[in-house]
Amino acid sequence: MTAFTTEQKLLRESVRKLMTTHASRDYVRAKDKAKAYPYELYDEWVKAGMLGAAIPEQYGGMGGNAIDLAICVEEIAYVSADFQMCYGGSMFCAIALLMKGSEAQKEYWLPKIVSGERRFSISMSEPEAGSDVGALRTKAERHGDSYVINGQKLWNTAAGARGNTMFVYLKTDPSVHYRKGVSLILVDNDTPGVKLNKLDMLGRHCAGTYEVFFTDAKVDADRLVGGENKGWECVLAGLQIERVVSAAGNCGSAQGVVDMAAAWAKERKQFGRPIGTNQSIAHMIADMQTDVAAAKALTYQAAFKVAAGEDALAEITMAKLFTSETYVKVANMGMQIMGGYGYSMEFDMQRHYRDCRSSTVAAGSSQIQRNLIAGLMGLKVQ
Ligand SMILES: Cc1cc2nc3c(=O)[nH]c(=O)nc-3n(C[C@H](O)[C@H](O)[C@H](O)COP(=O)(O)OP(=O)(O)OC[C@H]3O[C@@H](n4cnc5c(N)ncnc54)[C@H](O)[C@@H]3O)c2cc1C
Repeated sequence: MTAFTTEQKLLRESVRKLMTTHASRDYVRAKDKAKAYPYELYDEWVKAGMLGAAIPEQYGGMGGNAIDLAICVEEIAYVSADFQMCYGGSMFCAIALLMKGSEAQKEYWLPKIVSGERRFSISMSEPEAGSDVGALRTKAERHGDSYVINGQKLWNTAAGARGNTMFVYLKTDPSVHYRKGVSLILVDNDTPGVKLNKLDMLGRHCAGTYEVFFTDAKVDADRLVGGENKGWECVLAGLQIERVVSAAGNCGSAQGVVDMAAAWAKERKQFGRPIGTNQSIAHMIADMQTDVAAAKALTYQAAFKVAAGEDALAEITMAKLFTSETYVKVANMGMQIMGGYGYSMEFDMQRHYRDCRSSTVAAGSSQIQRNLIAGLMGLKVQ
């Protein structure tokens, strides 16, 4: 693995400082409790140029790459996996647009994401189409210069945020295989005919998880990205960056858990001495840190390959799998180390315990990642 540049080290320091200043423990707790989107923090990310981390300078960005993006995501997720979804969602949609949008679309949309005028979210899953993306039914029909959309999407993270545009994957040709009949169309969340409902979920309360109903929702045809029936190419174009974002987020949050558990083990006294002086607790923490270090190594190995323009499908799939399971594992151990305090809503470990649980499901479940890895090894999984 190549080393981080001086600029990347500085980027990490500045994002860490921003998060310390603007996302205090009280702020994170209050937002989680109120299930409120962190608009003030998002504005700070915008001011710091972070929404342009991996956007070329010609569109107002910083001209960075997948590594810069991973650094931003990791540092945000160290504080909150939930907040990271607000940033990550905007970013991986922006990258898909960068890769598949027309020049006019890039010039129109990318400066808007960098300036914070618009946010992006991904809208692919449906009630009958989760792991089996090909089963999606929401459809768009061309009428002159517009598309008319009907159907329902599910589990759309951060769709309800102010100024959000959903990257909706839908059928434009139901007569063929989904890889040939799906298109990507951008739909603002306040478009007439679009109705959103925030769902009551276990965690990730601030970004929020939404179901979205489309009833004759009409959008201009220039909202189509990558050409009609070319949506699957957009999915694939953004896939590796999406997994870099997911994996780096899991690493950051898992490190947040380990540091919280280690601090607690040093401070909490029972039997007249810190609980961390018990070998069983100290070894748990050592194992947790080892897993997180391995997760980071896998993630950045993949991110460096992606940044170099190399194919990293195997590495990034393994990173998504390993980091998500690591986050779940360490959060579970962190709960044990904090005893009753971990289980209390007055402390932060429970938030990780709730927020981590979706990481092995969202953006492709662990089982689907294993199927993919095995497939890349020449094994035919049914
Ligand atoms: C918090 C959260 C946020 C999300 N955000 C978004 C978002 O922003 N946009 C979006 O489009 N979607 C989003 N999703 C949806 C997510 O991508 C799906 O939940 C995921 O793809 C799994 O689909 P499903 O929930 O329908 O489960 P199912 O596909 O029904 O799977 C159920 C179980 O069966 C297993 N399984 C299914 N098929 C196979 C197979 N072939 N081999 C082995 N095991 C299999 C799965 O691994 C899982 O364990 C989000 C989900 C969550 C929980």
